[in-house]
Amino acid sequence: MSVQLQPSAPAHTLPAFDAEAVRAQIPALHQSVNGKPLVYLDNGATTLKPQAVIDALLGYYAGCCANVHRGVHTLSQRATNELEAARTTVQRHLNAPEEAECIFVRGVTEGVNLVANTWAQRHVGAGDEIIVTGMEHHSNIVPWQLLCERVGATLHAVPFDDAGNLDLAAYRALLSPRTRLVAAVHVSNALGTVNPVAEMITAAHAVGAKVLLDGAQAVPHGPVDVQQLGCDFYVFSGHKVYGPTGIGVLWGRRALLEAGGPWHGGGDMIKRVTFEGTTYAELPGLLEAGTPHIAGIIGLGAALRWFQALGPERVAAHEADLLAYGTAQLAQVDGVELVGTATEKAGVLSFVAAPALGVHPYDIAELLDQQGIAVRNGHHCAEPVMDRLSLSGTVRASLACYNTRADLDALVVGVKRALSMLA
Ligand code: PLP
Repeated sequence: MSVQLQPSAPAHTLPAFDAEAVRAQIPALHQSVNGKPLVYLDNGATTLKPQAVIDALLGYYAGCCANVHRGVHTLSQRATNELEAARTTVQRHLNAPEEAECIFVRGVTEGVNLVANTWAQRHVGAGDEIIVTGMEHHSNIVPWQLLCERVGATLHAVPFDDAGNLDLAAYRALLSPRTRLVAAVHVSNALGTVNPVAEMITAAHAVGAKVLLDGAQAVPHGPVDVQQLGCDFYVFSGHKVYGPTGIGVLWGRRALLEAGGPWHGGGDMIKRVTFEGTTYAELPGLLEAGTPHIAGIIGLGAALRWFQALGPERVAAHEADLLAYGTAQLAQVDGVELVGTATEKAGVLSFVAAPALGVHPYDIAELLDQQGIAVRNGHHCAEPVMDRLSLSGTVRASLACYNTRADLDALVVGVKRALSMLA
């Protein structure tokens, strides 16, 4: 199976990617910050939104603002149609077998917690094991720790090398018939590592374990096909793929979602409620209790359609060029040490600058902000990664399709200036 997130055609056979035309569609890019033109390199935290997404949100609130699924009146039906059209978009985007398997959640955090409290709650027991990687975001660690405490299971973490490559041999050694679930980050938000998920899934299935992938940093950077991957659950957050905040997707195999049963109880997830007992709705309603984030779902649909129109493979090729360029440029800056140089990478340039002189990533990020350059600093909600590398944090520049080489030139100039002020 091919490595996901790599363009399936060589870059030179893909039509040229017009980043300037993409930039023209992102209103928030065209502003000054601290008197300087904004250079936005904090896309791993959240992406800026295209006008198409803003219009979709406005269209819902100004046009068909009604609750869904319960109304016969026209506005309610329009809103319902738009919401369900977004589900169709999600299904196509992930190449999921069924729309009903695409559950709207708040984001990766809620999606992982949902699986931990449904399927895993019923299928992981005392003495069982769950495996995560050592480079997970906290949202793919803590729900499993909580589950293990509840049911008496054990959590293992797969180590990675100094460059950020996952240790596949160690992973294979951890797998056993006691392994019920492997929960792995597809692309690391702290290091940019693209994990060897195809091999991981094959090996997990060979011992009868299920696999959940955290696609928060994968979906924004290229094509993701859950059937080709062969995973059992896949989660992503809308706001990192040009959509609104507060909305995301959990995809899961129908049989597993059904076997997990309900999680939140309330409206929309029931067939019939009496005081003698309640029967439950079919998927997806079963796992979508209450009024959903209707505007967010419609906005997410618009974001995915926008991204599809750009071409996920062309985005991947464009960002691969930016990553290689930025890596080379930053590596030449005296005092900069890149953090995360795995063989397969996407979207992230993490680094420390002059740590021996006591320069903290916070100082660099603050001085970059004064130059209009937005990056993130700290542990990126991946404290075990920092512990493994004996770092308190990094500076992280993270890419989106609207970034250009000029943004990375500005970053390099900015880092040099910051270092000259701090040294
Ligand atoms: N997983 C990864 C790899 C992430 O980068 C993030 C957010 O940064 C999350 C999970 C959590 O996403 P959310 O806060 O949207 O639930």
